[in-house]
Amino acid sequence: MQTDYDAIIIGGGPAGATAAMTLRQAGRKVLVLEKEKFPRFHIGESLLPYNRPIFDELGVWDKIQSAGFMRKRGAQFWMGDGSMHTRLNFSRGSFTEFPEAIQVERAKFDDILLRHAEQLGAEVREETLVTSHQVTQDRVTIRVKAKDGSEQEVSAAFLVDASGLNNFTANREKLREYYPGHKKIAIFGHYSGVLMTEGEEKGDILIVRRKNSWFWMIPLADDKVSVGLVLDLNDFKELKQEPQAVFDEAVATTAAVRDRMMNAQAITQGHVLSDFSYTNKKLVSDRVVRVGDAAGFIDPIFSSGVMLAMHSAQKGARVVDEALKAGRTMTFAMKRYEWSTRKHVGRFWQFIEKFYTKHFAQLFFQPSNKFRMVCAINCVLAGRPEMNFATWWRLKFFFGLVWIQKRFALAKPIEIG
Ligand SMILES: Cc1cc2nc3c(=O)[nH]c(=O)nc-3n(C[C@H](O)[C@H](O)[C@H](O)COP(=O)(O)OP(=O)(O)OC[C@H]3O[C@@H](n4cnc5c(N)ncnc54)[C@H](O)[C@@H]3O)c2cc1C
Repeated sequence: MQTDYDAIIIGGGPAGATAAMTLRQAGRKVLVLEKEKFPRFHIGESLLPYNRPIFDELGVWDKIQSAGFMRKRGAQFWMGDGSMHTRLNFSRGSFTEFPEAIQVERAKFDDILLRHAEQLGAEVREETLVTSHQVTQDRVTIRVKAKDGSEQEVSAAFLVDASGLNNFTANREKLREYYPGHKKIAIFGHYSGVLMTEGEEKGDILIVRRKNSWFWMIPLADDKVSVGLVLDLNDFKELKQEPQAVFDEAVATTAAVRDRMMNAQAITQGHVLSDFSYTNKKLVSDRVVRVGDAAGFIDPIFSSGVMLAMHSAQKGARVVDEALKAGRTMTFAMKRYEWSTRKHVGRFWQFIEKFYTKHFAQLFFQPSNKFRMVCAINCVLAGRPEMNFATWWRLKFFFGLVWIQKRFALAKPIEIG
């Protein structure tokens, strides 16, 4: 079979760059097609500790470290009225090897990853929009449009779709499914003059829980904080107000955020994103593997997006390499990739789904480390991909307690907001 490349990757975000690096490490000829010119703004700024082993394996950690990103040692969960909070300290985990993560400006972070992929030998074409794909028995053909309007076709043995929420191939194949009852909207921007925690807790992400919505506050630099509000799309529509007005009103009525933002100044325009929680019916098909958000995205509450994107991209690229070696268009390893990716995402989904319920919040905000349950939760929320029996049964136990809390008050039945 004669093709231009072993693999073409749509998208140069963290998933696309990771897939490109991994395939280059395996000696494959790779083309990355990216519609934007990097560096470019992107949401998704708080990373998890289990990103670190991937950075090491890709050989990019030194570059990330020297970029001077903010260290993140923990995640704080606050009640909106400021009455209560709890902190997940990543170093406090019998089951977690990586004690900290980083907070990143995605423009800079994504650029480091993409440039590293280029240095490893991937061909990267920016300002190049993929407009169609066609899979035939012996190749994948991609049509692209460059910035000057010129169009071209390129072909490869495999296609890795890392197009993020654009969900390029799955949308064209009508594979996207939204999580029922989980339609959200996020309104966000960068601010200076925000009062964040100092000392050992400097760099922590703050999640502030309101009745049916929540804020994130992510310190990106000494005087730059990303602040975002996530709420139900239906609630937003009922308010019949502009996004910025909804955001400002939520700040004004949430003491834990308002007190920190007394002297805040917006330093970017406000951004809005909605309908970002979905899954795809298929993650693999003949000659195609979907990775990162193009495999599905759940919810930003536990900052799992970039970590899941990079994990799935690394695994996805490895199964592509194996299929190329075997000269096959579909392999058992590709199906196993789909299964294990869904399982990893599912572990976060059980926390996300429950996070929006009152009885979960009541236990989560009043944690007990009996039987090292907090350590087990810590390990999942740090992003550990494999779970051993020791963490598995503790999580089952924790969710059992959540079930009981709904019926009998084990923890103090606090009000949420
Ligand atoms: C409100 C919100 C808050 C979030 N907060 C966090 C957080 O704090 N921490 C975290 O880890 N994650 C967070 N995420 C998730 C995170 O943003 C994503 O999971 C992550 O960016 C996925 O990386 P990716 O490479 O799959 O996709 P992306 O980073 O979106 O990259 C996809 C790339 O593909 C390109 N592309 C798309 N279509 C085409 C095309 N047709 N042709 C060429 N190029 C194309 C795009 O330009 C883009 O550069 C958040 C998400 C949302 C919605």
